[in-house]
Amino acid sequence: MSARFIFVTGGVVSSLGKGLASASLGALLQARGHKVRLRKLDPYLNVDPGTMSPYQHGECFVTDDGAETDLDLGHYERFTGVSARQSDNVTTGRIYSDVIARERRGDYLGGTVQVIPHVTDAIRDFVLSDLSDEEFVICEIGGTVGDIEGLPFLEAIRQLGNELGRARTCYIHCTLLPYVGAAGELKTKPTQHSVKELLSVGIQPDILLCRADRDIPKNERRKIALFCNVKEGRVIPALDVDTIYDVPNAYHREGLDTELLRYFGLLGEDDDGDVDLSRWHDIAHRVRAPEGEVTIAIVGKYTVLLDAYKSLNEALTHGGIANNVRVNLKWIESEVFESADPAPHLEGVDGVLVPGGFGERGSEGKIKAVTFARERKVPYFGICLGMQMAVIEAARNIAGIDHASSTEFGPTPEPVVGLLTEWMKGNQLEKRGITGDMGGTMRLGAYPAHLKPGSLVSQIYGGATEIKERHRHRYEVNAAYKDRLEQAGMVFSGMSPDGELPEIVEFPDHPWFVGVQYHPELKSKPFDPHPLFASFVAAAVQQSRLV
Ligand code: GLN
Repeated sequence: MSARFIFVTGGVVSSLGKGLASASLGALLQARGHKVRLRKLDPYLNVDPGTMSPYQHGECFVTDDGAETDLDLGHYERFTGVSARQSDNVTTGRIYSDVIARERRGDYLGGTVQVIPHVTDAIRDFVLSDLSDEEFVICEIGGTVGDIEGLPFLEAIRQLGNELGRARTCYIHCTLLPYVGAAGELKTKPTQHSVKELLSVGIQPDILLCRADRDIPKNERRKIALFCNVKEGRVIPALDVDTIYDVPNAYHREGLDTELLRYFGLLGEDDDGDVDLSRWHDIAHRVRAPEGEVTIAIVGKYTVLLDAYKSLNEALTHGGIANNVRVNLKWIESEVFESADPAPHLEGVDGVLVPGGFGERGSEGKIKAVTFARERKVPYFGICLGMQMAVIEAARNIAGIDHASSTEFGPTPEPVVGLLTEWMKGNQLEKRGITGDMGGTMRLGAYPAHLKPGSLVSQIYGGATEIKERHRHRYEVNAAYKDRLEQAGMVFSGMSPDGELPEIVEFPDHPWFVGVQYHPELKSKPFDPHPLFASFVAAAVQQSRLV
């Protein structure tokens, strides 16, 4: 293992797009033919983000190997196509619980367990773990410098710089240059302070990414270079762009990848090297110059924080890229439908999507949205909870099972959706009790499903009969109701390999009605749109021609 490590920190304020910067840098290194890996070190105390409200923290991204991770890992995958793993995201909570478990086991017997070296060693080991032939490992540190909880992480990456040497480590710091209207200037002082803060923990940044809402005058760049002890060419302007998929192009134009490779001595000072960015030019062009547009209603909860549905949002954009259309999203709080007719809200949309979600609130509104889409033959896409709602709707309104419900919403005489207490993961039986822990106890990660030959989904997946998709849910459609629902016209076109767990439902007499128990949005990429999203948006395009 001889990977080079790039540590990305942030300063001044949060939300500067460190995650996108890291993801874009990964894409740029790939475009130069390098093998990359991206990791996120999160200083918060939760063991993983699985128990955090997406309303506060944004979505929880699930990996193939079943880890519940930070949403930045979604950006990493979407920009590089490299599947993230359990070993790509760690939190203070995880580090401490491992250290404390070792202390209890007696691993440190006789010693005093301390932040330095025990916690910092655990962070260091994590950064270096599970690597093979990667050439670059980009490690983003969550939060901003100066946060108390971030200190052990900064100390660990400082030590790594010393241990591996400058030839194998690079520190990139992301800051903000605010524009002060009264002075008519972009201000460099916060950046200077932020770099000082980093220096106080022993880290001298090698490259600065300076977010600004307008061009950074040469003078200001020179000033930053001088005060922050960074080469002028390595003060990289990071101006706002209109689509996130143009960020790799924008950073390349400003010289980020070139300067990084020069830093590592992989390019000479006058050499720009070869880079193939055609993929990113094409994507940015398609996003900017669509040939048409469709409107999709997303009926869910948490609709005030769009980060709660980050991957979904992106996957719909990818569906648009596949069809050369802009996908407008109409976010609707499902509770609204509990006291109002959904028709006035949904008439005129080209597709209805009910996304994943938890809890009873708003569920009756979601079911009403399903009824509308089913009866009016508007394309419907139900994801996870959205599939469960579609099945409950069909049970109640077509199969005559009036009290059909989910045990997630309380006791019910007709548990059409019920708690999953046992399931197979590979050859292993996973078990869970009703009163068990909430953290990490869902059906998580990639599971295979068998598709019914000739079904709509099988066609969508290019004739495949076996697929693998990522899951994150506690409840399941109850296979005991399958026959009654099939008699009512709902086709169970995807099942777990043992035939126990319904994975996909569809209505053959509807233009496009698909419910999936998994989260296809997690695997969609701008350069490889997920087939379900490409097909759903294509159906919405058809629908838009009817209206
Ligand atoms: N709340 C449902 C369950 O746990 C659906 C979860 C989801 O949509 N991700 O099964």
